[in-house]
Amino acid sequence: MKLLFDRVFDGVDEMIGVAEKSLEAALAQFGENAPVAMPNTGYNMANHLTYLSKKITNLGSLRDAFPEVKAWAAHGPRLANVFKAGFATFLAAEVIEACKYINCQDPYGDAACADGFRYHGHLSDAEVRELGVPLVTNDIPGFVVIIGPAPSDEEAVELIKGYQSRGIFVFLIGGIIDQARRKNLNMGFPVRVVAVGPDIWAVGHIISFVNRAAMIFGAVQPGDRDAMDDYTFYRIHAFVNAFDPVGDIVVGAGAGAIAMGFPVITNDTKDMWKVPKSIVIQTNTKDFIDTSLEARDIKLKVTKIEIPVAFSNAFEGEIIRRADMQVDMDGSRLDCFELVQTKDASEIEDHSIELIGPDIDSVEAGSRFPIGYVVEVAGKNMQSDFEPVFERRFHNFINCAEGVMHTGQRDLIRIRVSKAAFDAGFRARHIGEILYAKVKSEYESVVDKCQVKIYTRSEDLKRLRAEANEIYNKRDDRLKSLTDESVPVFYNCILCQSFSPAHVCVVTPERLGLCGAVSWLDAKATNELDPNGPCQVVTKEKPLDENLGTWEDVNASVQQASHGNLEQVTLYSIMQDPMTSCGCFECICGIEPMSNGVVIVNREHTGMTPLGMTFSEMASMTGGGVQTPGFMGHGKHFIASKKFMKADGGSPRIVWMPKALKDLVGSRLDKTVEELYGIPEFTGKIADETVAEDVETLANYLAEKEHPVLEMEPLL
Ligand code: SF4
Ligand code: ZN
Repeated sequence: MKLLFDRVFDGVDEMIGVAEKSLEAALAQFGENAPVAMPNTGYNMANHLTYLSKKITNLGSLRDAFPEVKAWAAHGPRLANVFKAGFATFLAAEVIEACKYINCQDPYGDAACADGFRYHGHLSDAEVRELGVPLVTNDIPGFVVIIGPAPSDEEAVELIKGYQSRGIFVFLIGGIIDQARRKNLNMGFPVRVVAVGPDIWAVGHIISFVNRAAMIFGAVQPGDRDAMDDYTFYRIHAFVNAFDPVGDIVVGAGAGAIAMGFPVITNDTKDMWKVPKSIVIQTNTKDFIDTSLEARDIKLKVTKIEIPVAFSNAFEGEIIRRADMQVDMDGSRLDCFELVQTKDASEIEDHSIELIGPDIDSVEAGSRFPIGYVVEVAGKNMQSDFEPVFERRFHNFINCAEGVMHTGQRDLIRIRVSKAAFDAGFRARHIGEILYAKVKSEYESVVDKCQVKIYTRSEDLKRLRAEANEIYNKRDDRLKSLTDESVPVFYNCILCQSFSPAHVCVVTPERLGLCGAVSWLDAKATNELDPNGPCQVVTKEKPLDENLGTWEDVNASVQQASHGNLEQVTLYSIMQDPMTSCGCFECICGIEPMSNGVVIVNREHTGMTPLGMTFSEMASMTGGGVQTPGFMGHGKHFIASKKFMKADGGSPRIVWMPKALKDLVGSRLDKTVEELYGIPEFTGKIADETVAEDVETLANYLAEKEHPVLEMEPLL
């Protein structure tokens, strides 16, 4: 039996050998000037950047860095040599994978596989950022990398679904992907099961993902190995499941994983060694999940919900197509609504779920079906301000049921139930079960009793929908009356500190958290529900500069909440002490020096901006809780706020936004700009990707539209 160290070194040598061949072939085919970068990232080749502090730009620079990769793989007697060699496998894997992306944005795309299946390959920066909020809220309690194949197709799927139903994000490499395909398992980033690639070098993409998370959220600097090891150990709860037989090359990569704090669990008893907390042998694959969670110290929060389908965050992104749906509860065509109401405790029978009207099995498969539900709650500390906060979460709650899709809110909801969920026994009352269980568990400090009434008769729905609309309107009036001036306090939010330790959001009525998910009312509710939780009251009694949006007490609060990393912030400027960014911002705004304006781009937009940078590249200019004047992350709905860049000239500074973002915020933005600056139909003056993707075309467009920025003071 070969010694474990020797297996690591043999594995690393094998990976280095493949990398060397790929590199030579690519150089011969494309030449040293061929550009090299992974797609949709501001970090080019993140593993090279992280470990070697090298930003690789072309094949020549990749070749020049290769001797260093080999040096990392040098054999030696110490544990440090083994770990370094483990990292060398990740560098070599990145070389192999990068060579595939030369002159090809999508080597794993449809064309690569005759039957239309696509491996995921490289993960974009947007995907890393998308996981920011679910990671901090522990909706994703961990990551597993499964290197297959499992002993049987059944065991493969059982394991994957087992993780998925516990919210664990699953990466698959190798033969287990074919097993999942044979079993028709639904895979993809939105359902948190990612088929990364067929070969072990696909692991380079997963490590790149982890390294970017550390740089994006943790502000870990390239080359800072200690900070990186700390970050991965304490913040990224990942582990590996490797099936028998585990080859040397997997053992080599495993050494790197262990160095990062990620244990390896395997059923290979022939030539693997037990190493406490690092290599765990579990011969019964049915116990892989429990053993793995224990090895990585992952504790799951379980809410028991009485429904016949699986319930997990992993299903939140699941899409149910027309052909697969049993019923379509379509609020755009039928009277549908959802509502939370506070009642007196005497009016509520806890856990009563009442269906008033026919059930979904009364219609043919594929039909439309109307639905409205009222969740009635009571509790000594319940406030009517919490009602919309709970209600907005219904979308997440219902979506977590496998085979159930929810979109929209209020009376514009749409719920689809799949045929598979229906066949498993899912009926209307189960929506009530989900809402009951989640409201009781998430808001236990204020909700003592909860009952749900579900209505499905058109005549009831027509009347109740009209009543619900009166309530929505009252709430909107209350929201409109909330301004930064009218409220007595703001709140901070430090939820993202679990990944971005220095970051603090200050949330005000006119400036929501940069993730877009935390409004002032949400923060207020979070504070009142959990006074020692992530949102704390920020007083605003000592104003310094009203225009900039500075207060002595706000500064004191961010100093304290950032553990001294931040001295002061302005709430209304991006040029002077702007608010910091973690990594999960919906949009990034950056100055465009030629026009004296700003470009805003949202995470979903993958194209180029006139700054010559994509979202990912702009996003990499800021983050990790650092202030970067001129660049700032923010929520989509901050754009139409009267406080957006107020100190720097306000919304008329906006010169470019993707069209989809204009469509989303345009009408509210127009209202704000007309009211504050007297400029009608301002959104029409803002360029987008359909008219300009470079500075010159942008300048022409602005001149042609007589954009107000042309008359404004220089920003710099
Ligand atoms: Fe993170 Fe800020 Fe959103 Fe809180 S408000 S979750 S700190 S981005
Ligand atoms: Zn964040």
